[in-house]
Amino acid sequence: MFESLSGRLSGVIDGLGKRGALSEADVAEAMREVRLAMLDADVALPVVKDFVNKVREGAVGHEVLDSISPGQAVAKIVNDALIDALGGAGAVPLNLNAVPPAPILMVGLQGSGKTTTSGKIALRLSTREKKKVLLASLDTQRPAAQLQLQQLAERAGVMSLPIVAGQAPLEIAARAMDTGRREGFDVVILDTAGRLSIDEALMEEVRQIRAATSPVETLLVVDAMTGQDAVNTAKIFNEAVGVTGVVMTRMDGDARGGAALSMRAITGAPIKLTGSGEKLDALEEFHPERVAGRILGLGDIAGLVEKAADTLDHEEGERLAKKMMAGKFDLDDYVSQIKQIKKMGSISGILGMLPGMGKLKDAIGDKDLDTTIFKRHEAIISSMTKAERKTPDIIKASRKKRIAAGSGTTVQDVNKLLKQFDDMSTMMKRINKLGMKGLMRQGLS
Ligand code: GDP
Repeated sequence: MFESLSGRLSGVIDGLGKRGALSEADVAEAMREVRLAMLDADVALPVVKDFVNKVREGAVGHEVLDSISPGQAVAKIVNDALIDALGGAGAVPLNLNAVPPAPILMVGLQGSGKTTTSGKIALRLSTREKKKVLLASLDTQRPAAQLQLQQLAERAGVMSLPIVAGQAPLEIAARAMDTGRREGFDVVILDTAGRLSIDEALMEEVRQIRAATSPVETLLVVDAMTGQDAVNTAKIFNEAVGVTGVVMTRMDGDARGGAALSMRAITGAPIKLTGSGEKLDALEEFHPERVAGRILGLGDIAGLVEKAADTLDHEEGERLAKKMMAGKFDLDDYVSQIKQIKKMGSISGILGMLPGMGKLKDAIGDKDLDTTIFKRHEAIISSMTKAERKTPDIIKASRKKRIAAGSGTTVQDVNKLLKQFDDMSTMMKRINKLGMKGLMRQGLS
């Protein structure tokens, strides 16, 4: 997501940064490139126009053209305009303010990921906010829909409304709310029938369910991969039934990002959450400022730290951190670290969250990063003796040959791994000196 846009916007800003002074003509030229980049990313035309105007106005001001580093000043203006387009600073949290149970109504087209997202939200609310969540499928159109949600509920470890054959959606909704009240649930998630396309009869059904249950949230689920269609769908849904927030799924795919950038301006509805995979924990809050940072290659350290806190094995993390501090980090620890990183999901995705790493990612290619390099490293290390893993310095020419033969790699590969491990140790010493806070400040400035 955003890869191409990110590359091009960073290119424009880097180009401006290289000049000592900027003229209006330089800015005009840069804005032409920004405009094309955004159109290619499938951003809606009115949003592109507004964006470019905002940046141009900001950039031709005297403070920018006369500043010592105009490139950086423009970067800040582009960053602010991106944040604006994405919906303004800060995530918009789910609203659960209601006398329990708080009803959340899920709507969207078929295949957008609505049912999966219902399960993801249930898991998130029950584990992070310790809410007692009831999932109910009102989808009587698709025969297996209710069963699908029941299975998702089991996987998420939450309750689902028992299936009663032959009930109409409104009856199921009433039963869900009743069960929710009687059995002390905090939240009831109502998953409505999906639509193949906008369908007036089904819209009417959503309106009736809304009227009967007064949901605190009506969340529209859209697929980022459908680009402008996602935005148009959202516009129509919002006008027809009113939505309080959008969940954009398939952010893990190679969508160009236009939908995320156009959604707020075109529909007025904030993106509240995003889905980034099929697994139930692949759901993130949408922080416009962090997404803007990722688009501009500034990284998303805050997001990375959060992700790490959520997924990593804390004891193992602490053990590794202590060894790093003591300068005793060895190759066994490195393998353990690779395993931990893998748990956080796609390695290329993680690299995208690190400042300046976006470019490296492009250079190496996603596939190589995720599979080849780490697999090779694991194979090489597993061909070493215990002593070699503890003290890599003892690995000289003949040992290298043996290790390469044992792991089906070359001496060059072994050398590369050792060099990288060496670089890593040097880096860790630097981080130790700087402290984590210093590192974060470095990344965010
Ligand atoms: P519904 O018809 O809208 O209820 O869609 P489903 O929830 O059944 O999802 C359709 C397919 O999309 C399923 O195979 C899901 O696993 C998949 N899916 C849902 N959300 C995501 C996501 O964020 N990323 C990816 N890659 N797949 C997703």
